[in-house]
Amino acid sequence: MSATLTEPKPKSGILDIAPYVPGESSVPGGLKPIKLSSNETPLGASAKAIAAYTALASELERYPDGASLALRKAIGGVYGLDPARIVCGCGSDELLNLLAHAYLAPGDEAVFTEHGFLVYRIVTLGNGAKPVVVKCRNLAADVDAMIAALTPRTKIVFLDNPNNPTGTYIPMSEVRRLHAALRPDTLLVLDSAYAEYVRRNDYESGIELVATQKNVVMTRTFSKIYGLAALRLGWAYCPPAIADVLNRIRGPFNVTAPAIAAGIAAIEDTAHVEASLVHNDTWLPWTTAEIQKLGLEVTPSVGNFILIHFPETGERTATAADAFLKSKGIIMRRVAGYGLPNALRMTIGTESDNKTVVKALAAFMGKA
Ligand SMILES: *Cc1c(COP(=O)(O)O)cnc(C)c1O
Repeated sequence: MSATLTEPKPKSGILDIAPYVPGESSVPGGLKPIKLSSNETPLGASAKAIAAYTALASELERYPDGASLALRKAIGGVYGLDPARIVCGCGSDELLNLLAHAYLAPGDEAVFTEHGFLVYRIVTLGNGAKPVVVKCRNLAADVDAMIAALTPRTKIVFLDNPNNPTGTYIPMSEVRRLHAALRPDTLLVLDSAYAEYVRRNDYESGIELVATQKNVVMTRTFSKIYGLAALRLGWAYCPPAIADVLNRIRGPFNVTAPAIAAGIAAIEDTAHVEASLVHNDTWLPWTTAEIQKLGLEVTPSVGNFILIHFPETGERTATAADAFLKSKGIIMRRVAGYGLPNALRMTIGTESDNKTVVKALAAFMGKA
Protein backbone atom coordinates (compact mmCIF):
# COMPACT_ATOMS: atom_id res chain seq x y z
CA MET A 1 0.00 0.00 0.00
CA SER A 2 1.50 3.33 -0.91
CA ALA A 3 0.95 6.41 1.18
CA THR A 4 -1.05 9.15 -0.50
CA LEU A 5 -1.31 12.85 0.17
CA THR A 6 -4.49 12.20 2.11
CA GLU A 7 -2.82 10.43 5.03
CA PRO A 8 0.16 10.98 7.33
CA LYS A 9 3.37 9.89 5.65
CA PRO A 10 6.37 8.64 7.64
CA LYS A 11 9.83 10.01 6.95
CA SER A 12 11.64 8.40 4.03
CA GLY A 13 13.37 5.16 4.92
CA ILE A 14 10.87 4.02 7.52
CA LEU A 15 8.72 1.97 5.14
CA ASP A 16 11.89 0.22 3.92
CA ILE A 17 12.31 -1.33 7.39
CA ALA A 18 11.28 -4.95 7.76
CA PRO A 19 9.92 -5.17 11.33
CA TYR A 20 12.24 -7.09 13.68
CA VAL A 21 11.04 -10.65 14.21
CA PRO A 22 12.05 -11.90 17.66
CA GLY A 23 12.98 -15.52 18.39
CA GLU A 24 9.83 -17.61 18.68
CA SER A 25 8.63 -18.69 22.10
CA SER A 26 5.91 -21.29 21.59
CA VAL A 27 5.53 -24.60 19.77
CA PRO A 28 2.43 -26.28 18.35
CA GLY A 29 0.57 -28.81 20.46
CA GLY A 30 0.92 -27.00 23.76
CA LEU A 31 4.27 -28.66 24.63
CA LYS A 32 6.33 -26.76 27.20
CA PRO A 33 9.03 -25.47 24.86
CA ILE A 34 12.78 -25.61 25.28
CA LYS A 35 13.38 -22.02 24.19
CA LEU A 36 16.84 -21.62 22.71
CA SER A 37 16.00 -18.83 20.29
CA SER A 38 17.02 -15.58 22.01
CA ASN A 39 20.38 -16.20 23.70
CA GLU A 40 18.88 -15.91 27.17
CA THR A 41 20.87 -17.43 30.03
CA PRO A 42 19.74 -20.91 31.12
CA LEU A 43 20.64 -20.05 34.73
CA GLY A 44 18.11 -17.25 35.08
CA ALA A 45 18.70 -13.99 36.89
CA SER A 46 20.67 -13.72 40.12
CA ALA A 47 18.48 -14.39 43.19
CA LYS A 48 19.73 -11.04 44.53
CA ALA A 49 18.50 -9.26 41.39
CA ILE A 50 15.09 -10.93 41.68
CA ALA A 51 14.86 -9.84 45.33
CA ALA A 52 15.82 -6.25 44.44
CA TYR A 53 13.23 -6.21 41.68
CA THR A 54 10.50 -7.60 43.94
CA ALA A 55 11.30 -5.09 46.69
CA LEU A 56 10.31 -2.27 44.33
CA ALA A 57 6.74 -3.56 44.05
CA SER A 58 5.53 -1.37 46.91
CA GLU A 59 6.91 1.82 45.33
CA LEU A 60 5.49 1.69 41.84
CA GLU A 61 3.94 5.15 42.13
CA ARG A 62 7.41 6.75 42.33
CA TYR A 63 9.33 7.94 39.27
CA PRO A 64 12.76 6.36 38.92
CA ASP A 65 15.97 8.36 39.26
CA GLY A 66 16.12 9.78 35.73
CA ALA A 67 19.91 9.80 35.84
CA SER A 68 20.23 6.12 36.89
CA LEU A 69 23.06 7.37 39.10
CA ALA A 70 23.28 4.42 41.52
CA LEU A 71 23.36 1.99 38.61
CA ARG A 72 26.01 3.98 36.76
CA LYS A 73 28.09 4.05 39.93
CA ALA A 74 27.71 0.28 40.33
CA ILE A 75 28.76 -0.34 36.71
CA GLY A 76 31.63 2.12 37.09
CA GLY A 77 32.71 0.33 40.27
CA VAL A 78 32.79 -3.09 38.63
CA TYR A 79 34.65 -1.96 35.51
CA GLY A 80 36.69 0.93 36.91
CA LEU A 81 34.90 3.51 34.74
CA ASP A 82 33.85 7.11 35.30
CA PRO A 83 30.05 6.99 35.85
CA ALA A 84 29.75 10.36 34.08
CA ARG A 85 30.72 8.62 30.84
CA ILE A 86 28.09 5.88 31.22
CA VAL A 87 24.59 6.24 29.78
CA CYS A 88 21.94 3.66 30.65
CA GLY A 89 19.10 2.71 28.36
CA CYS A 90 15.99 0.61 27.91
CA GLY A 91 18.05 -2.27 26.56
CA SER A 92 21.15 -1.62 24.50
CA ASP A 93 18.69 -1.44 21.60
CA GLU A 94 17.60 1.98 22.87
CA LEU A 95 21.20 3.16 22.99
CA LEU A 96 21.82 1.99 19.41
CA ASN A 97 18.66 3.87 18.43
CA LEU A 98 19.75 7.03 20.22
CA LEU A 99 23.20 6.93 18.65
CA ALA A 100 21.67 6.62 15.18
CA HIS A 101 19.15 9.34 15.99
CA ALA A 102 21.92 11.68 17.11
CA TYR A 103 24.52 11.03 14.44
CA LEU A 104 22.73 9.90 11.25
CA ALA A 105 20.93 12.31 8.94
CA PRO A 106 19.35 11.64 5.53
CA GLY A 107 22.11 11.02 2.98
CA ASP A 108 24.55 9.72 5.61
CA GLU A 109 25.82 6.16 5.53
CA ALA A 110 26.18 3.52 8.24
CA VAL A 111 28.52 0.59 7.66
CA PHE A 112 27.93 -2.86 9.15
CA THR A 113 28.47 -6.48 8.12
CA GLU A 114 26.12 -8.73 6.17
CA HIS A 115 25.55 -10.93 9.23
CA GLY A 116 25.49 -8.03 11.71
CA PHE A 117 22.76 -7.47 14.30
CA LEU A 118 19.45 -6.59 12.55
CA VAL A 119 18.88 -3.56 14.76
CA TYR A 120 21.66 -1.64 12.90
CA ARG A 121 19.64 -1.74 9.70
CA ILE A 122 16.45 -0.67 11.48
CA VAL A 123 17.99 2.34 13.22
CA THR A 124 19.88 3.39 10.08
CA LEU A 125 16.80 3.36 7.84
CA GLY A 126 14.72 4.87 10.62
CA ASN A 127 16.88 7.97 10.43
CA GLY A 128 16.80 8.24 6.65
CA ALA A 129 20.40 7.10 6.30
CA LYS A 130 21.78 4.46 3.95
CA PRO A 131 22.84 1.00 5.17
CA VAL A 132 26.17 0.00 3.61
CA VAL A 133 26.36 -3.76 4.08
CA VAL A 134 29.81 -5.35 3.94
CA LYS A 135 30.60 -8.99 3.13
CA CYS A 136 32.09 -11.15 5.86
CA ARG A 137 35.07 -13.48 5.57
CA ASN A 138 34.55 -16.93 7.07
CA LEU A 139 31.41 -15.58 8.76
CA ALA A 140 33.45 -12.96 10.64
CA ALA A 141 33.81 -9.22 10.13
CA ASP A 142 36.28 -8.48 7.32
CA VAL A 143 38.09 -5.32 8.37
CA ASP A 144 39.64 -4.74 4.94
CA ALA A 145 36.19 -4.87 3.34
CA MET A 146 34.79 -2.55 6.01
CA ILE A 147 37.60 -0.06 5.42
CA ALA A 148 36.99 -0.26 1.66
CA ALA A 149 33.31 0.63 2.28
CA LEU A 150 34.09 3.88 4.11
CA THR A 151 33.20 7.12 2.32
CA PRO A 152 33.08 10.78 3.38
CA ARG A 153 29.38 10.13 4.13
CA THR A 154 30.05 7.30 6.62
CA LYS A 155 28.88 8.61 9.99
CA ILE A 156 28.62 5.37 11.98
CA VAL A 157 30.30 1.98 11.78
CA PHE A 158 28.43 -0.66 13.81
CA LEU A 159 30.33 -3.78 14.87
CA ASP A 160 28.90 -6.52 17.05
CA ASN A 161 31.93 -8.24 18.49
CA PRO A 162 31.29 -11.12 19.12
CA ASN A 163 28.90 -11.22 16.21
CA ASN A 164 25.32 -12.35 16.62
CA PRO A 165 24.27 -14.75 15.03
CA THR A 166 27.58 -16.28 13.91
CA GLY A 167 29.38 -16.35 17.28
CA THR A 168 32.61 -15.23 15.61
CA TYR A 169 34.80 -12.38 16.86
CA ILE A 170 37.69 -10.28 15.67
CA PRO A 171 40.74 -9.59 17.84
CA MET A 172 41.28 -6.14 19.32
CA SER A 173 44.20 -5.56 16.94
CA GLU A 174 41.69 -5.76 14.07
CA VAL A 175 39.24 -3.42 15.82
CA ARG A 176 42.11 -0.94 16.26
CA ARG A 177 43.04 -1.26 12.58
CA LEU A 178 39.42 -0.48 11.65
CA HIS A 179 39.37 2.49 14.01
CA ALA A 180 42.64 3.83 12.64
CA ALA A 181 41.09 3.99 9.16
CA LEU A 182 38.11 6.09 10.28
CA ARG A 183 37.81 9.82 9.85
CA PRO A 184 37.68 11.52 13.26
CA ASP A 185 34.02 12.43 12.66
CA THR A 186 32.97 8.83 11.98
CA LEU A 187 31.61 7.08 15.07
CA LEU A 188 32.61 3.48 15.79
CA VAL A 189 29.93 1.67 17.82
CA LEU A 190 31.30 -1.47 19.44
CA ASP A 191 28.33 -3.63 20.43
CA SER A 192 29.83 -5.95 23.04
CA ALA A 193 26.61 -7.72 24.07
CA TYR A 194 28.43 -11.03 24.60
CA ALA A 195 31.74 -9.71 25.95
CA GLU A 196 31.31 -11.40 29.33
CA TYR A 197 31.37 -14.85 27.71
CA VAL A 198 34.53 -14.47 25.64
CA ARG A 199 37.60 -16.42 26.75
CA ARG A 200 40.23 -15.25 24.30
CA ASN A 201 43.41 -13.37 25.16
CA ASP A 202 43.26 -11.28 21.99
CA TYR A 203 39.67 -10.12 22.63
CA GLU A 204 38.70 -6.81 24.27
CA SER A 205 35.26 -5.31 24.72
CA GLY A 206 36.51 -1.88 23.68
CA ILE A 207 36.76 -0.06 27.03
CA GLU A 208 40.35 1.00 26.43
CA LEU A 209 39.57 2.39 22.98
CA VAL A 210 36.59 4.39 24.27
CA ALA A 211 38.74 5.73 27.10
CA THR A 212 41.32 7.15 24.75
CA GLN A 213 39.35 8.16 21.63
CA LYS A 214 36.63 10.69 20.89
CA ASN A 215 34.78 8.68 18.28
CA VAL A 216 34.22 5.25 19.86
CA VAL A 217 31.25 4.06 21.96
CA MET A 218 30.84 0.62 23.53
CA THR A 219 27.37 -0.76 24.27
CA ARG A 220 26.63 -3.52 26.80
CA THR A 221 23.50 -5.33 27.91
CA PHE A 222 21.94 -6.87 31.00
CA SER A 223 19.89 -9.17 28.75
CA LYS A 224 22.43 -11.94 28.28
CA ILE A 225 24.76 -13.14 31.06
CA TYR A 226 22.85 -11.15 33.73
CA GLY A 227 19.53 -12.71 32.76
CA LEU A 228 17.48 -9.50 32.87
CA ALA A 229 16.16 -9.46 29.28
CA ALA A 230 12.58 -8.91 30.46
CA LEU A 231 13.55 -5.71 32.29
CA ARG A 232 15.19 -4.09 29.23
CA LEU A 233 18.47 -2.68 30.46
CA GLY A 234 21.66 -1.73 28.69
CA TRP A 235 24.48 0.79 29.01
CA ALA A 236 26.95 2.65 26.87
CA TYR A 237 30.45 3.79 27.76
CA CYS A 238 31.10 6.99 25.85
CA PRO A 239 33.46 9.89 25.31
CA PRO A 240 32.14 12.80 27.45
CA ALA A 241 30.76 14.73 24.46
CA ILE A 242 28.79 11.72 23.25
CA ALA A 243 27.41 10.97 26.74
CA ASP A 244 26.27 14.61 26.79
CA VAL A 245 24.49 14.18 23.45
CA LEU A 246 22.72 10.98 24.51
CA ASN A 247 21.62 12.58 27.77
CA ARG A 248 20.00 15.42 25.83
CA ILE A 249 17.89 13.18 23.58
CA ARG A 250 17.03 10.17 25.76
CA GLY A 251 13.70 9.97 27.56
CA PRO A 252 13.97 11.68 30.97
CA PHE A 253 13.05 8.38 32.71
CA ASN A 254 14.22 5.86 30.13
CA VAL A 255 15.24 3.23 32.69
CA THR A 256 12.68 1.89 35.16
CA ALA A 257 13.26 1.77 38.92
CA PRO A 258 12.97 -2.04 39.10
CA ALA A 259 15.53 -2.30 36.28
CA ILE A 260 17.92 0.01 38.11
CA ALA A 261 17.58 -1.97 41.35
CA ALA A 262 17.90 -5.37 39.70
CA GLY A 263 20.77 -4.20 37.51
CA ILE A 264 22.81 -3.08 40.52
CA ALA A 265 22.23 -6.39 42.31
CA ALA A 266 23.00 -8.39 39.17
CA ILE A 267 26.27 -6.70 38.29
CA GLU A 268 27.48 -6.96 41.90
CA ASP A 269 26.60 -10.67 42.15
CA THR A 270 29.89 -11.83 40.70
CA ALA A 271 29.34 -15.41 41.93
CA HIS A 272 26.25 -15.72 39.74
CA VAL A 273 28.07 -14.30 36.72
CA GLU A 274 30.94 -16.71 37.33
CA ALA A 275 28.51 -19.65 37.53
CA SER A 276 26.98 -18.63 34.18
CA LEU A 277 30.43 -18.42 32.66
CA VAL A 278 31.49 -21.81 34.00
CA HIS A 279 28.27 -23.32 32.68
CA ASN A 280 28.95 -21.87 29.24
CA ASP A 281 32.60 -22.95 29.31
CA THR A 282 31.41 -26.53 29.81
CA TRP A 283 28.39 -26.73 27.55
CA LEU A 284 29.46 -24.54 24.62
CA PRO A 285 32.30 -26.92 23.61
CA TRP A 286 30.30 -30.04 24.52
CA THR A 287 27.29 -29.07 22.43
CA THR A 288 29.47 -27.90 19.53
CA ALA A 289 31.40 -31.17 19.47
CA GLU A 290 28.35 -33.43 19.82
CA ILE A 291 26.53 -31.69 16.97
CA GLN A 292 29.65 -31.80 14.78
CA LYS A 293 29.82 -35.57 15.39
CA LEU A 294 26.43 -35.85 13.71
CA GLY A 295 27.97 -34.55 10.50
CA LEU A 296 26.67 -31.00 10.82
CA GLU A 297 28.93 -27.99 10.50
CA VAL A 298 28.96 -25.74 13.57
CA THR A 299 30.72 -22.37 13.47
CA PRO A 300 33.14 -22.12 16.43
CA SER A 301 31.57 -19.60 18.82
CA VAL A 302 32.91 -17.44 21.63
CA GLY A 303 29.42 -16.47 22.84
CA ASN A 304 26.57 -18.34 24.54
CA PHE A 305 25.10 -19.63 21.28
CA ILE A 306 26.13 -21.58 18.20
CA LEU A 307 25.32 -21.43 14.51
CA ILE A 308 24.47 -24.85 13.05
CA HIS A 309 24.63 -25.28 9.27
CA PHE A 310 22.37 -27.64 7.32
CA PRO A 311 22.49 -28.86 3.71
CA GLU A 312 20.99 -26.40 1.23
CA THR A 313 18.87 -29.06 -0.50
CA GLY A 314 17.42 -32.48 0.23
CA GLU A 315 15.56 -33.69 3.31
CA ARG A 316 17.80 -32.18 5.95
CA THR A 317 17.55 -28.45 5.30
CA ALA A 318 17.42 -25.83 8.05
CA THR A 319 13.69 -25.43 7.40
CA ALA A 320 13.13 -29.18 7.84
CA ALA A 321 15.32 -29.23 10.95
CA ASP A 322 13.43 -26.32 12.45
CA ALA A 323 10.08 -28.07 11.89
CA PHE A 324 11.43 -31.35 13.28
CA LEU A 325 12.89 -29.68 16.38
CA LYS A 326 9.65 -27.79 17.00
CA SER A 327 7.73 -31.06 16.87
CA LYS A 328 9.97 -32.11 19.77
CA GLY A 329 9.31 -28.85 21.62
CA ILE A 330 12.69 -27.28 20.78
CA ILE A 331 12.82 -23.72 19.49
CA MET A 332 15.97 -22.46 17.76
CA ARG A 333 16.35 -19.23 15.81
CA ARG A 334 15.89 -19.14 12.06
CA VAL A 335 18.48 -16.73 10.70
CA ALA A 336 17.45 -16.28 7.05
CA GLY A 337 16.93 -12.60 7.89
CA TYR A 338 20.65 -12.46 8.69
CA GLY A 339 21.57 -13.82 5.26
CA LEU A 340 21.93 -17.35 6.64
CA PRO A 341 18.98 -19.34 5.20
CA ASN A 342 20.70 -22.70 5.72
CA ALA A 343 21.51 -22.32 9.39
CA LEU A 344 19.82 -22.28 12.79
CA ARG A 345 21.13 -20.47 15.84
CA MET A 346 20.95 -22.34 19.12
CA THR A 347 21.41 -20.79 22.55
CA ILE A 348 23.41 -22.97 24.94
CA GLY A 349 20.78 -24.24 27.39
CA THR A 350 20.74 -26.22 30.59
CA GLU A 351 22.55 -29.58 30.63
CA SER A 352 19.24 -31.30 30.02
CA ASP A 353 18.27 -28.91 27.18
CA ASN A 354 21.57 -29.46 25.40
CA LYS A 355 21.32 -33.25 25.72
CA THR A 356 17.74 -33.18 24.45
CA VAL A 357 18.84 -31.12 21.43
CA VAL A 358 21.69 -33.48 20.57
CA LYS A 359 19.33 -36.46 20.76
CA ALA A 360 16.74 -34.72 18.58
CA LEU A 361 19.34 -33.70 16.00
CA ALA A 362 20.70 -37.26 15.96
CA ALA A 363 17.20 -38.49 15.13
CA PHE A 364 16.83 -35.81 12.47
CA MET A 365 20.14 -36.86 10.88
CA GLY A 366 19.12 -40.54 10.95
CA LYS A 367 21.84 -41.33 13.50
CA ALA A 368 19.73 -42.04 16.56
C1 LIG B 1 21.07 -9.48 22.49
C2 LIG B 1 21.87 -8.44 21.80
C3 LIG B 1 21.84 -7.13 22.25
C4 LIG B 1 21.09 -6.78 23.49
O1 LIG B 1 19.99 -6.01 23.25
P1 LIG B 1 19.14 -5.49 24.49
O2 LIG B 1 18.32 -4.43 23.86
O3 LIG B 1 20.10 -4.95 25.50
O4 LIG B 1 18.34 -6.64 25.01
C5 LIG B 1 22.59 -6.18 21.59
N1 LIG B 1 23.36 -6.51 20.55
C6 LIG B 1 23.43 -7.78 20.10
C7 LIG B 1 24.35 -8.12 18.98
C8 LIG B 1 22.67 -8.78 20.70
O5 LIG B 1 22.72 -10.02 20.25
